[in-house]
Amino acid sequence: MPAALELSEVMPGVFELGLPIPFENGTVNAFLLPKDGIVDLIDCGMNSDESVEILRTAIREVGGPAARVRRLVVTHIHPDHYGAAGLFARDGAEIYLHRLEVPMVHPRYLDIEQLVAEVGRHLEVHGVPEADAEEMRDASRAMREFVTPAEVAVELDGAETLEMGRLRLRVEWTPGHSPGHVCLWDPRDRVLFAGDQLLPEMSPNIGLHPQSTPNPLDDYLGALDRLLALQPRRVLPAHGHPFEDAAGRIEWMASHHGRRKLQILEIMGDSEMTGWEVSIGVFGVRKHIYEKRLALQEALAHLQSLAVDGSLDKLADVGAVRWRRPR
Ligand SMILES: [Zn+2]
Repeated sequence: MPAALELSEVMPGVFELGLPIPFENGTVNAFLLPKDGIVDLIDCGMNSDESVEILRTAIREVGGPAARVRRLVVTHIHPDHYGAAGLFARDGAEIYLHRLEVPMVHPRYLDIEQLVAEVGRHLEVHGVPEADAEEMRDASRAMREFVTPAEVAVELDGAETLEMGRLRLRVEWTPGHSPGHVCLWDPRDRVLFAGDQLLPEMSPNIGLHPQSTPNPLDDYLGALDRLLALQPRRVLPAHGHPFEDAAGRIEWMASHHGRRKLQILEIMGDSEMTGWEVSIGVFGVRKHIYEKRLALQEALAHLQSLAVDGSLDKLADVGAVRWRRPR
């Protein structure tokens, strides 16, 4: 029997449900939008027995004992948002996913060897020593048990209007954290379902890696600007509680990344460095393999943005990528 449901009505007809993330201390929020015995979902948590049981219980709670899930919009394919999608698809739910997320599913969760090899080359090129690279490469495999991939019913481009429960929500494509990350926007009440794009207590990981967009940090900041222009009154994030000050939070995010870029320029001085060396300079030597990977990816995303804006040269050849101030 699962613990008491962390279920709250965050606006009329919209229920936020906290779902456990098995390997972390935190929770991820799914949103349930019921109408006449039908429930639409935004995100679905991990594929773990506990999480799925909690979500199914909540669906009956808000939609009635015979409630059925009609559509499931997944903000992006990270395991905590997408993991159980295959189970709900099997039960008849239509899966909505941005089309840039679709081609990432197979290499990441089904036939992973090619991606592991690509990640291996990526780590080598960016200066990761072999002993660390081996662990970091193999970390890709562990996530698969928490994900059951799903056939996608509707591939999104962005700017679609979807009927979700009693609301009409517009899809806002917000690449950066993941190439096809989407938020959902309720223009009537000026409420933003933000996914991982805008979180109250954390800065979402923005990383350059073989499956990312080529310049994820600038993509992320550009998407934040577009969200700011919507002037949200309320943000419903995928982690943490709803909050009001979208503009303040967006400003904080932008200056956080601006400061990090300056910090990297300072660390580098006049020397030529690999991404790995910069990641250690910024984040220190990390013990946990996931932290090492995230640190490298974050460092590379900032380095790439610095190269794009002309603050750094990115020296690339077959075997290595190195970065330095223009001379
Ligand atoms: Zn995520």
